Amino acid sequence: MSYGDPRYDKSWKQQADEIAAAIANGDAIVCYAKCESCQFGCHYDEPTWHSWAGPEDIAHAKATGQKDPSDSRCGCSCAEAEQ
Ligand SMILES: [Zn+2]
Ligand SMILES: [Zn+2]
Repeated sequence: MSYGDPRYDKSWKQQADEIAAAIANGDAIVCYAKCESCQFGCHYDEPTWHSWAGPEDIAHAKATGQKDPSDSRCGCSCAEAEQ
């Protein structure tokens, strides 16, 4: 692959656009954010719905005027509870 290949540039740009769109939708946050326990490898034995946000995240969102993150699911597979 040569540098400056227009096809490579295009696919990179498309990816960047998709990521930007996902972030704008809030999808990226739901997909990638994990709670502190999961980040440190402490997972639920049974998949259990839980938020990625800890008390500090919720307080930070409140202090900075952002949406309460406590209803955003943790991105880890152990948060995928069956409905
Ligand atoms: Zn988690
Ligand atoms: Zn987990």
